[in-house]
Amino acid sequence: MLDRFQRKITRLRISVTDLCNLYCVYCKPPQGVHQMPRKEILSFEEIAFVARCATRLGVRSFRLTGGEPLTRRNIESLIASLSEIPGVEDLAMTTNGVALKQHARAIKDAGLRRINISLDSLGEDRFRRITGGGNVRDVLEGIEAAVDAGFEQTKVNMVVIRGTNDDEIEAFARLTLDRPLEVRFIEYMAFGCRMVEEEKFVSSKEVVERIGRLGNLEVVDVDGKRGGEGKTPGLSGPRVSLRGPAKLYRLEGARGVLGLISPVSQPFCGDCNRLRLTSEGKLRACLLAGGEVDIKSILRSKDHAADVTNGRSNPALEQEIRDVFIKVSHMKPKVHSGRGEPVMCQIGG
Ligand code: SAM
Repeated sequence: MLDRFQRKITRLRISVTDLCNLYCVYCKPPQGVHQMPRKEILSFEEIAFVARCATRLGVRSFRLTGGEPLTRRNIESLIASLSEIPGVEDLAMTTNGVALKQHARAIKDAGLRRINISLDSLGEDRFRRITGGGNVRDVLEGIEAAVDAGFEQTKVNMVVIRGTNDDEIEAFARLTLDRPLEVRFIEYMAFGCRMVEEEKFVSSKEVVERIGRLGNLEVVDVDGKRGGEGKTPGLSGPRVSLRGPAKLYRLEGARGVLGLISPVSQPFCGDCNRLRLTSEGKLRACLLAGGEVDIKSILRSKDHAADVTNGRSNPALEQEIRDVFIKVSHMKPKVHSGRGEPVMCQIGG
């Protein structure tokens, strides 16, 4: 499936819930979030049906996000059913890690291959303030549990905000010295009516300069190789390229790697190969730009609903869903506006 700019769409991000157990200051809109009635959220059977149609168009990589995906009851069963779909080469999750200690082993056993954990401070008080009451120890234990469970990749994502957590850049970088983690620094983006004041923005360029002062920084190339040989920890496995938009570095002697994600200073739209399925069943072209089609109403139409629920083949419906994918892929803008109108926690970052 190619979009209008010849980008090959191979990835789908699936938001499995709009609920979250944290209330991060930079993520939730100041006016609060309108919670979706439960019946509006796609069922696991509906998600799996859409995923099966997507694989027929060449989508190979799926990422579960939210809201907080680990708040969705029995998420392991969705992971298991997605991992069994022929053509699925990569299955990943983005989580805040709060409940990861309890779930790491089960979601790995169910077929999850990679995990990204969002963490914006290592300090107890600061973490509590940023997240509206979270306990950083839960997340740190979740990270250890993920490393122990042996995912192909375990990444830690930090959104860098000046005056909030930028004094922890070096401490986050040091987490890679003795752990096989990929620690990624993400530029703060404007969302909804939440502006990013210029003084709060920290560019990836500045982050690299600062971590460069900790020791020799070597560039790790986009295929995950270092100096033309050897792979970054855990980059074996699926044939689909696992490299996301991060530029990678390694501190000399470190077990893990550092990633820089620069949606603001260097938008990576030219390489964008993904679509997004929202928790209430809209297929979206882009995180930041408009363009979406309601898939749920098609799945729930009276002619189709029983087949979807029972996982039965329905060629006419499958064709209809594939047509929606093609339509939405053609809505992908060449470059996004750099500013999201919608709410991050509802689409899934
Ligand atoms: N609850 C999960 C989590 O915390 O990872 C998944 C959803 S959360 C919306 C996904 C990611 O979006 C998190 O890593 C979060 O830090 C990031 N995010 C939210 N608002 C952001 C913003 N304004 N700029 C950059 N990243 C943001």
